[in-house]
Amino acid sequence: MHRIKKFPIGGIHLPERKALTTELPVTVVVPDCTIEIPLRQHLGVPCRAVVAAGDEVRIGQLIGMNDQGLSARVHSSASGRVREITTREMVDGSKVSVVVIEPAQTADWKTQIGAWLNGDAASSQEDVPPPDVVIQRVEEAGIIGMGGAGFPTHLKLGGKHGHAIDTVIINGAECEPFITTDDRLMQEHAATVFRGLEIIRRTVGAAKGYVACEINKPAAIAALQQEAAHWPHLEAVRLDTRYPHGAEKHLIKAVLNREVPTRQLPMAVGVVVNNVQTAVAIAAAVDREQPLIARVLTVSGPAIRNPGNFLVPIGTPIHCLIEAAGGMSSEDAIVIVGGPMTGVATKDLDQPITKNTSGIVVMPSSEYADRSCDPCIRCGRCVEVCPMYLQPNRITAAVNNEMFDVAQDLGVEDCILCGACSFVCPSRRPLLQWLRTGKAHVAQHATTR
Ligand code: SF4
Ligand code: SF4
Repeated sequence: MHRIKKFPIGGIHLPERKALTTELPVTVVVPDCTIEIPLRQHLGVPCRAVVAAGDEVRIGQLIGMNDQGLSARVHSSASGRVREITTREMVDGSKVSVVVIEPAQTADWKTQIGAWLNGDAASSQEDVPPPDVVIQRVEEAGIIGMGGAGFPTHLKLGGKHGHAIDTVIINGAECEPFITTDDRLMQEHAATVFRGLEIIRRTVGAAKGYVACEINKPAAIAALQQEAAHWPHLEAVRLDTRYPHGAEKHLIKAVLNREVPTRQLPMAVGVVVNNVQTAVAIAAAVDREQPLIARVLTVSGPAIRNPGNFLVPIGTPIHCLIEAAGGMSSEDAIVIVGGPMTGVATKDLDQPITKNTSGIVVMPSSEYADRSCDPCIRCGRCVEVCPMYLQPNRITAAVNNEMFDVAQDLGVEDCILCGACSFVCPSRRPLLQWLRTGKAHVAQHATTR
């Protein structure tokens, strides 16, 4: 067995708070109301609707696509009728067209959603279609990176980046507090995770594949190690528990001791990284030609009555999931889409679950509310914990003075927006928020100085 791996500098130990849901199996939830399916859930150009108001749709039917540029197809996650196509403001503030569907509420909807995760596996692990067929099925299924980035997966597998790939890593670090989505998938569906990894490995022509998991998930590691024995080219790797191990560059450093250069992708060092649930989605698409119509996510937090891990149709509104988890125990609570470190707080509980929503965390406002901040006391703690060797105090000072060229010189583009600096700042300075602003500004006005 390999020694426990970790990235060398920076990072923090967070209160994990995963015990609330780590032992709770995934259960299927379908909403009893309309669903809204966004036509952009991915990095890139939005899809165009290929259905219209009044159309009858069936589950799995293509409802949006755009073959011009970076995009990922969108499918209906219910049988029913299209009520309208409208625009909604998403949690990140962007305006996106959504297809609003009135589900037919048939008795078998739950079973159909459950089948996305629990369908038959391939008869043989050797039975992987040729790369062009895999890529076509992944594209037709509308698969994106489900760990948050939302990059269209068929393009990642397509090999047009010009780099030879020798290793595939499935990112099972899941280092955000509360979230146990990948943990449960690795515990309950380790064989499917490995099947997805093997499909990716063969498609990109890599010699080796790893599933990397932090040691705070012992049941998942046990399941992975047992499964790994059946796959000659694949291994389970244990990571130390340290935030942000789930960041791609840190994962690659920890597993392979390779550095991904600034402004470059993992392919530049011969690596493809995919999330656990993306691997599951790839197995469903390749083995059963299942489009991506559902996902597993965790609903948790101190202000949720019955936390759980749920498999839900894409487009399910947040309020349905909060109801499925017993409701909120306090009215003075904050709903966060994603984890508490990198997620976004929202008051709009009609927001739909998208392909890359990893969880809903509900915190008492006393634990999460926006707080007034004090001046920087130059303690240097933000610098000590930054896993990208940055100086968050200096970068944010430059951003706040609109000196974006200085922020760029100080490396704002390398910031992975992990939030570790904000977490440790004794002056409660909202460094992450300022870093987001600085990074977005520099990206928008990118120069090659
Ligand atoms: S958010 Fe950026 S600056 Fe802050 S610790 Fe993470 S990588 Fe460093
Ligand atoms: S942790 Fe906060 S107070 Fe300390 S140097 Fe960084 S920004 Fe300043």
